[in-house]
Amino acid sequence: MKDPNCLFCKIIDCEVPSEKVFEDAQVYAFKDINPKAKVHVLVVPRQHYRNVDELAKADPSLLAHMVEVAQTIADEAYNGSFRLIFNTGEDAGQTVFHVHAHVLTGEPMGE
Ligand code: C5P
Repeated sequence: MKDPNCLFCKIIDCEVPSEKVFEDAQVYAFKDINPKAKVHVLVVPRQHYRNVDELAKADPSLLAHMVEVAQTIADEAYNGSFRLIFNTGEDAGQTVFHVHAHVLTGEPMGE
């Protein structure tokens, strides 16, 4: 299901530009435009879910696949270590309501 008003649905459809890092039949991954680490990639399922809780309930294997993709990105960009963040809800800092995993890697992480 797509949401015609969703920024990340538009990025997945290449209607809005992005710097692609990885894609397959289930997910699209691209560099965050405002990186918070040396390597900061967003892993986004092609299917539109509002947040990680909605995704986990609807399709847990897709959530597991996003974690595998994050690991592959960290293996290729660095030494396999990575931080995985799902901001969930406005008060947690979620600004785009299409679930996305922030993959932070490429350098040692602070606290
Ligand atoms: O977790 P949150 O919803 O705040 O994350 C949205 C992320 O999407 C931000 O880190 C922002 O920099 C990123 N973004 C992007 N490309 C856009 C718009 C937002 O990488 N065109």
